[in-house]
Amino acid sequence: MRYVSTRAVEAEPLGFTDILLEGLAPDGGLFVPEHYPRVDQATVSAWSELLERDGYAALAHAVLSLFIGDIPSDDLLGICQRAYNRDVFAADQIVGVSPLDSGLWLAHLSDGPSAAFKDMAMQFLGQLFEYELARRGRVLNILGATSGDTGSSAEYAMSGRRGVRVFMLTPAGRMTPFQQAQMYSLDDPAIVNIAVDGVFDDCQDLVKEVSADLEFKRRFHLGAVNSINWARVAAQVVYYVAACLRLGGTPVSFCVPTGNFGNILAGHVARQMGLPIKELVLATNENNVLDEFFRSGVYRVRATADVVATSSPSMDISKASNFERFVFDLLGRDAAAVGRLFADDLPGRGFFDLSGRPEFATIRQRFGLASGSSTHADRLAAIRQAWNDDGVLIDPHTADAVTVARRFAEPDVPMIVTETALPVKFAATIEEAIGRQPDRPARFAGLEDRPQHVIQMGKDAEALKSLIAQRAA
Ligand SMILES: *Cc1c(COP(=O)(O)O)cnc(C)c1O
Repeated sequence: MRYVSTRAVEAEPLGFTDILLEGLAPDGGLFVPEHYPRVDQATVSAWSELLERDGYAALAHAVLSLFIGDIPSDDLLGICQRAYNRDVFAADQIVGVSPLDSGLWLAHLSDGPSAAFKDMAMQFLGQLFEYELARRGRVLNILGATSGDTGSSAEYAMSGRRGVRVFMLTPAGRMTPFQQAQMYSLDDPAIVNIAVDGVFDDCQDLVKEVSADLEFKRRFHLGAVNSINWARVAAQVVYYVAACLRLGGTPVSFCVPTGNFGNILAGHVARQMGLPIKELVLATNENNVLDEFFRSGVYRVRATADVVATSSPSMDISKASNFERFVFDLLGRDAAAVGRLFADDLPGRGFFDLSGRPEFATIRQRFGLASGSSTHADRLAAIRQAWNDDGVLIDPHTADAVTVARRFAEPDVPMIVTETALPVKFAATIEEAIGRQPDRPARFAGLEDRPQHVIQMGKDAEALKSLIAQRAA
């Protein structure tokens, strides 16, 4: 399998490991497979047996082999086994699916070390980076900014990986005590937590400023682990396959809490591959950039000041960084048209409008995509209802999707909600909904009491550079 850019009309396709350590394509587009691999009914049956017999790592190897042509099969199996096992995911079954109530199911994706679904892809990425860096005789210093889930998921995945260091900026005092303790309690010299005196945007500005110094960036092998990395999307395809198979391989629909269009993009890929997925319903919170597009055909990015802080904070986005990959498919993989929309119209006007195009009119029939959004009151009600009626406690992001799923559920098609975090991460909202704190899984007992490792810093790019220079791999 080789990869092309969503904007390149005539560039040479690249191999999987060639795009692994890159961010955007040189033309500003995103890398996508030249075509999607197609699987038939016999393959789905064989995968079902494989999952049953050998577990999730074996399924991951089978599915990811279709996307990765330049790593020997045995090596890829080892990478999958090191990423997906009982030491990493605290569950009897990796990606179990359990009933919520009539017709609704939950796919459990949050049993990894950071208690959010991002671990599903990030653990694979950590093992893949270690493997590929060793093969190329390279090192990587990851520089990132986080307001919560991505940072801790990246730190747990990269901790202990040879050749990798992580420099993670966080806004001082602005994460929940649990999130802060998750990151700062990591005791590993390769993980450098930096608390910046400022807000999340200040952290991001610092990352941009340091990365803009190309000579520094090259000298210290700086890179990122952002959600546009194709390897993360590919790894997420596996849990859509697993969730389908857990319900016997008959047609199912999914409802997915969505921010950057990363999680649901993997569902779209699985559907294009021929997995039995009827509909893919995306759920947003009050920051409804994507719901607006799927309802009206207008994609309008928000100004930072117009992004509201909600009780499902990991979906508080102003634009959806993976959306371009879907638009590429929507427009029949017309790279020139995608380039005009994302490189010309968006920066120029702040929106583009596909409402008049035939592709938009048939989006639901062709791609199964539908959407809805929810409010804080909806989330509280969904958490309360699942708890009172079914004895199941869900986190506020999952609650966004449960709210929307109820509007779209059909009697004959199971609707699977992807659970994107454990409630323990968002204790205050849970308490608001049901009047008590969520139970704490044993592995997080006493988390906030552990010693914390963090360096305080002002908004100072030179100070950050000298810290990187001292601690880089
Ligand atoms: C990142 C995240 C999301 C949104 O996922 P995308 O891939 O950005 O759509 C939803 N819920 C939680 C808990 C997350 O951490």
